[in-house]
Amino acid sequence: LFITFEGGDGSGKSTQVALLTNWLLAEGHSVEHSREPGGTDLGVELREIILHRRGYIAPRAEALLYAADRAHNIATRVRPAIERGEIVIQDRYLDSSVAYQGAGRVLDGAEIRSLSLWAAEDLIPDLTVLLDLDVAAGRGRLDESRDKYDRLEAEQQDFHERVRQGYLDLAAAEPDRFLVLDATDTIETLAAAIRSRVVSLLT
Ligand code: C5P
Repeated sequence: LFITFEGGDGSGKSTQVALLTNWLLAEGHSVEHSREPGGTDLGVELREIILHRRGYIAPRAEALLYAADRAHNIATRVRPAIERGEIVIQDRYLDSSVAYQGAGRVLDGAEIRSLSLWAAEDLIPDLTVLLDLDVAAGRGRLDESRDKYDRLEAEQQDFHERVRQGYLDLAAAEPDRFLVLDATDTIETLAAAIRSRVVSLLT
C-alpha cells in the first residue's frame, strides 16, 4: 500500500504523516516513512541544492532535480518496501511536481506528470491525502518557522495560489485516489478521517 500526503506549505502534512505512521505501527503494521525531496542520502543532497537555490534554478532544471530525487527514492526505498508488503507513507510525491513545477512554475502539467511517472516507473499511489489550505492561512501558520516563512515571503502569493488550484484540479480529475480535507479542521478530526479511509483500504 502506497499512501502519499500533499498540500501547500503550512498545511500540516508532516503532523498527519507522523500520526498515521504511529497509529499504523501501533496496530502492528510494517510501515516505511519517506519524503520528497530528501527521502534518501542522495535526496538529502538534492534537497539542499534545490531549496538553497530556489528561485534561481531554471524551471525545467528544477523539475529534473525533483525527478532525480524521486527516481532514486522510488527505486531504492519505496518500491522495495512495497514489495516486502510494507505500507509506505510519503510526504509529497508526483502531485507536488505537477502542482509546484507545473501549475506553480507554469510548465506543462501533462509533461511534468509523464516525467514523474517515467522517473518512478509508473508507480501511482493507492491513496493521496490532500490537505487543502487557503494560502494566507498557510502563511500565518508558518510564522513560527522562520526559515520556511522567509522562503514563502520571497515568493509571490500568486505562485502559491496556482499551486493550490493545481492540487484541486488534480484531485477533481482523480476523485477515487484523492481524499481532500480542509486543513483548518482540528488535528484529531483530520487524523480520524485519514485513518478511516486507510482502514477501508486495508480491509
Ligand atoms: O514539504 P517540504 O517542507 O519538505 O517541502 C520543501 C519545500 O519545497 C516547500 O517549500 C515546498 O513548497 C517546495 N517544493 C516544491 N516543489 C516540489 C516539492 C516541494 O517547490 N515538487
